[in-house]
Amino acid sequence: MESMKQLPIHSTYDCQTQKEYEYTLNAILDIINEGVWDWNAKTRRVYRSPGWYRMLGFDVNCFEKDVLTWENIIHPEDYPRVMKHFELYTNGKIDSYSIEYRCRCADDTYIWIADRGKIVEYNEDGSVGRMIGAHQNIDLQKIAQNRLIRQNKLLQEGNLTLERLLAQTNKELHEKNIALEKKIKEIEYLSMTDTLTGVSNRRSFEEKLETEVSRAKRYSHPLSFALCDIDFFKKINDLYGHAKGDIILKSLAFIIKSSLRESDFVARWGGEEFALLFPDTPLAEAAEICERLREGIKSFVCEGDIRITCSFGVSEYDRDSNIDRLFIQTDDALYRAKKLGRDRVEVVDATA
Ligand code: GH3
Ligand code: MG
Ligand code: MG
Repeated sequence: MESMKQLPIHSTYDCQTQKEYEYTLNAILDIINEGVWDWNAKTRRVYRSPGWYRMLGFDVNCFEKDVLTWENIIHPEDYPRVMKHFELYTNGKIDSYSIEYRCRCADDTYIWIADRGKIVEYNEDGSVGRMIGAHQNIDLQKIAQNRLIRQNKLLQEGNLTLERLLAQTNKELHEKNIALEKKIKEIEYLSMTDTLTGVSNRRSFEEKLETEVSRAKRYSHPLSFALCDIDFFKKINDLYGHAKGDIILKSLAFIIKSSLRESDFVARWGGEEFALLFPDTPLAEAAEICERLREGIKSFVCEGDIRITCSFGVSEYDRDSNIDRLFIQTDDALYRAKKLGRDRVEVVDATA
């Protein structure tokens, strides 16, 4: 307890009072479980309180009372950091000595301690004369803190994984959307297309007709419509076979489509019948187009030596009438063309 004698004692204390003071102080140091240390640089002695030994599980006063005792129990990994901090403080480079590190216990395990110290005396040359401090056991806090840091790290990694997962999912969703859009377009195309001939189907034609009727009404444009039916196609099938009949149907669809203008529209109406729409076209002009088409079909030689002819019924949309009537009238005109010998174009007489 030699260094304890150097604690500043009030000058008014008499000898008896000082003894009582030391007794009280020793009693306090004995019962507190944190470690108090008192380093006298002049004598190179270090006083450590009983609590310091107990904190680390050692028998009280089992060590030499020197600084090496302290250095020997510092965790090797923490040692350089602690020494650097200590020297910075004792050399006056930093204002306070306060550091956390691991100390070795009696059972060779390590506990985290918080070490705080203060220079209380300087030598004449300015070097440290005496420094006192306390070691506090912070192992439980440190374990909890490290656990939190680990959990936080795991959470961050988890978040990163989640972000990556989300990015990957988004990418997959995007790709699936593109594939889906492609599929929808395919389905749309198939649902609007005649599988045999590749031209639009009846459903598609009805939609197109509705659009063009609205447009004709809106701008007061003429709109013409025609039905084209292969003459005696049953015979052709009978003569050359159904498969050849199919090829002829495909060829006819191609001829019609390639003969029409960009703005015109053709669809397979059913069987061997095609529907034609001529937007912004009066009846006479549509009839002319059909006439040219009829001739073109007639002169076309299909599958070596097969020739076909077609009959046409042509009409113009009357905005005072309706679509059903348009169909009936056109069908009537076609029927008339058949009746009058086939391979001809018959127009609907609007005045009739
Ligand atoms: P018309 O001049 O009066 O129109 O005589 P047609 O023989 O063309 O008329 P009909 O209605 O008596 O017969 C139509 C034929 O069209 C019957 C059917 O076998 C044929 N047909 C309809 N659809 C197809 C098809 O997809 N492929 C083939 N190869 N033939 C078809
Ligand atoms: Mg027919
Ligand atoms: Mg026919």
